[in-house]
Amino acid sequence: MGQLHIIDHPLAVDKVSLLRSKDTGNKEFRELIEEVATMICYEATRHIPLKDIEIITPVCKTICKIVADKKFAIIPILRTGIGMTDGMIKLMPTAKVGHIGLYRDPQTLLPVEYYCKLPSDISCREVFVVDPMLATGGSAVAAIDVLIKNGVPANHIKLLCIVTCPEGVSMVHERHPEIDIYSAAHDSHLNDLGYIVPGLGDAGDRLFGTE
Ligand code: URA
Repeated sequence: MGQLHIIDHPLAVDKVSLLRSKDTGNKEFRELIEEVATMICYEATRHIPLKDIEIITPVCKTICKIVADKKFAIIPILRTGIGMTDGMIKLMPTAKVGHIGLYRDPQTLLPVEYYCKLPSDISCREVFVVDPMLATGGSAVAAIDVLIKNGVPANHIKLLCIVTCPEGVSMVHERHPEIDIYSAAHDSHLNDLGYIVPGLGDAGDRLFGTE
């Protein structure tokens, strides 16, 4: 069963509080999202295996460890996932980046895919789906569905968010019980407008200055 992992490092908590403030402007908001994404990436990659390698230091020959297989993929859900991507790439510079674009059909309220470009070898990569706000969970479930259809085993997929809420986590775990979710905050609930409470407001508008 997948778990919800909350990154409660004091520096992450501090940055999320700054993100929450309505007085935080677009530039600072963008920088903070990127910084928190780096911290979440650090925790979400704890499990990756290492292998031995011989290194010659200025003093002697020694056996060191390096990451065994650097086949990672970062998949931002458009558009807000883009805000987390550079923060992830800082720790995984060789990761490939795919994009999944989804909009909500106004009639059915279901997510509809309008864009999908994935690395050709996605099925043999460790995949990190990024989306700052896990609200209803509809987009995250649809993105995970796309990855599974493209051959990625569910146990190679992790979902990385800045803020989650019980509704979104339940939805993801109902449809994809094996997925681990990493987040810097788990908030109270969704309001009638679909915003996480207390949340950060509209993360896309605050990232891209479109409010
Ligand atoms: N998307 C956002 O940007 N904010 C929310 O609170 C919920 C969904």
